[in-house]
This record gives sequence, structure tokens and C-alpha cells, in this order.
Amino acid sequence: MGLFTIDRARLRHADADARQQLRASQALLGLAVYGVFAIVQHVEVMLGLIEPADSWALTAYSMTGGLFFYAVIRSGLNLRLRSDRALAMPQTLWAMGSLAWSYAITGPARGAVLLITMLVILFGMFSLPPARSRALTAAGFTMLAAVMVWKAASDPARYDPRVEALHLVFAGIVMAACAMLSMRFGRMRARLEQQRAELAGALDRIRALATRDELTGLLNRRAVMDHLLVALRERHSVQSRLAVALVDLDHFKRINDRHGHAAGDAVLRRFAEAAGAEVRTGDVVARWGGEEFLVMMPGASVEQALAVLARVRARLAATAWDDIAGGLAVTFSAGVALCESELDLEPAIERADAAMYRAKEAGRDRAFGPRALRPAECDTLTGLTA
Ligand code: GH3
Ligand code: MG
Ligand code: MG
Repeated sequence: MGLFTIDRARLRHADADARQQLRASQALLGLAVYGVFAIVQHVEVMLGLIEPADSWALTAYSMTGGLFFYAVIRSGLNLRLRSDRALAMPQTLWAMGSLAWSYAITGPARGAVLLITMLVILFGMFSLPPARSRALTAAGFTMLAAVMVWKAASDPARYDPRVEALHLVFAGIVMAACAMLSMRFGRMRARLEQQRAELAGALDRIRALATRDELTGLLNRRAVMDHLLVALRERHSVQSRLAVALVDLDHFKRINDRHGHAAGDAVLRRFAEAAGAEVRTGDVVARWGGEEFLVMMPGASVEQALAVLARVRARLAATAWDDIAGGLAVTFSAGVALCESELDLEPAIERADAAMYRAKEAGRDRAFGPRALRPAECDTLTGLTA
């Protein structure tokens, strides 16, 4: 049931909302991480490893960025971007800057900063496309290398050039390995993405096959039953009506016998078009089986349903059938019933069917409402009664 009635627009909307929510919580997490680092740094200040002024400046830089990204996402400004709506690239670059800065002021404890840099690169690998993730890795390495060279040159007492050279080589090796991993990740992700798209396409085809009649393109019997049940469930009040009509083409076997099965098929297709063109928006024409059709008319009274059928009848009368077979004329008999509730659906269809058979018995080419109705409530064009 649900398979055929999923409201895709609503789903997409919910999906977009959930993604934006996730972006906001990730930005908030980033902010929290900056907060934790600020605390750790101030402990390092107390331990005499970092100058207080340096620590405050870095904390200001980190928190400003964290707050800025969080505010942009919360305000929805990020949705104006065409790509990277999670702001993953600027956020990770900002974090890299923060780490390079931290490396420059942490002195002897700076080894820990290298470890955290790896963490940021890993984060980038998961949230960025491979090319961007590699660019980020390169940018991170360049920033760190610049800081190492600068500190080794300007402060060789705390930043021993030999240690810096070693750090630089190891950082280079690890980052190159990360870049390679990110390539492998990228390929894996692309393959997954492609498989997902193929599955979605297959699902669409299966759904179309399962819900549509191949010959006419109309909804099939099972799909229209789903639509009917949903319409009955979603009625705004118990009083709101739903009319169903069963339509059966007259002497259809004769058309097949005289003009061939292909001509019969063409008649079914053309009938489907004609009926589809005459129903109101919100009404649904479905192929019930063989040369029978069901018209679902939410909100329609019996009179309104009969008026719709009269329009279809008039259209069929005005339709040229000669291109299908010379001298061909197509008429139908129909029965209309009102459906009161979900439970009444099957009985209502049976009532419509019974009315249709009465229309056949009365001479075909007409539509009947329920038996108890007054003459005025039967086919408005022919004025016939049951
Ligand atoms: P009535 O006016 O009483 O409805 O007579 P009828 O000939 O329409 O009714 P009957 O049920 O005897 O015949 C229906 C015919 O519709 C029989 C079947 O071969 C034909 N039919 C069913 N499905 C298709 C289809 O998809 N294509 C074609 N060409 N014919 C079909
Ligand atoms: Mg039939
Ligand atoms: Mg028939």
C-alpha cells in the first residue's frame, strides 16, 4: 500500500530538513571541540607551556570561526550555496589554520597538535569529495610546513630544526598516505553512489510496472484501490463524498472480432485518453481489467459523476474512429455508486457494478446511479433510469 502512495515531495522536504539539522549539529559539535581545546590550552598556560596572550588570541580565532559557521548554518544562509552546503571545506580549513597556529605556540607539547591534524584530515575524507579532501590535505601540510620552517628559523631554542625536519618528513608521509586513502575512498563512494542511482531507477521502473497498465498508461486495479483507500482515509469530514463509476465498453468483443485485436487495443487507448480529458482534476481513471475502467471522483455526488460520464460519452461520440477501423463507433455502459467509508469500498464497487449491469440490460450506451435514485439522478444525457 505505502509503496504506491508515498508523497515524494513531502519526503524530499523532510529529507532536506533533516540534512540541514545534521549540518547545524555538526557545526555545533565543531564549536564544542574548539571550546574543549580552549580549556586544554588554558591548562597548558597554567603549566607554563603556552604564553597567556598567545592562548587568548588563538581561542578568539577558533571560537569566532566556530560561532560564525554555526550562525551561517542556523540562519539558513548556507542553503544559497550550490555545493558544499555543509561548509565542510571552509570549516576544515579554519580548523587547519587553528592547528597550525596552535603548533606555533605550543612549544614542546606540539607533537599532540600533529595527531589532531590527522583527525581533521580524516574528517575531511569522510565529508568532502576526493579532490577537495586532497586539496585540504595539501593546504594543511603547507600551513604546518610553513609554521615549522618559520619556527625553526625564528625560535630554534624551542623548535629544534632537526626535530622540525623530522616532523615535516613524517607529516608529509602520513598526509601522502591519507591522500591515497582518500582516492580509494572516493572511488568506493562513487561506486556506491552509482549503485544507489541504479537501484532508484530500478525501483521507479518496478513501481511504474506495478502501478500502471501497460496498454493505456492508466493506473491499474491495485493502484487505484490504493488511491481509493487513501482518499477515503484522508477525507476531511465523514460527509465528504466519493463517487466511483465502473465503465464497460459495449460489445467490445465484436470490435475485436470484426477489426482485430490491434484495433481493440487502439480503441482502449483512445478511450483512456478521452476519459482522462473529460474528468475533473482530482478524478482518476483507471483500467479495472479488460475493457472495464473505474473512475474515482472524490467529492462528487451521483449527479456530478453522471455528468462527468455524460461528457465522456459526448466526447466518444465526437471522436473519429475511422483511422482505427472504418465505420467504428464506441459506446460504453456505466454504473455509479457513492462510497461512504473504507469499509464500504468493496460494497460500493459492487453497487456500481450492479448499476452497470442494469445499464447493459436496459440497452447499453448509458450510465445508471444506485437503484433507489430518482430519474433526475441518472445519466443526464440519455435521461434513462434503472
Ligand atoms: P458487453 O457489451 O456485454 O460488455 O459485451 P463485450 O463484448 O464488451 O463483453 P465481453 O466481456 O464478452 O468481452 C470483452 C472482450 O474484451 C473480451 C476480450 O477478448 C476483450 N479484451 C479484454 N482485454 C482486452 C485487451 O487488452 N485488448 C483487446 N483488444 N481486447 C481485450
Ligand atoms: Mg466486460
Ligand atoms: Mg464490454
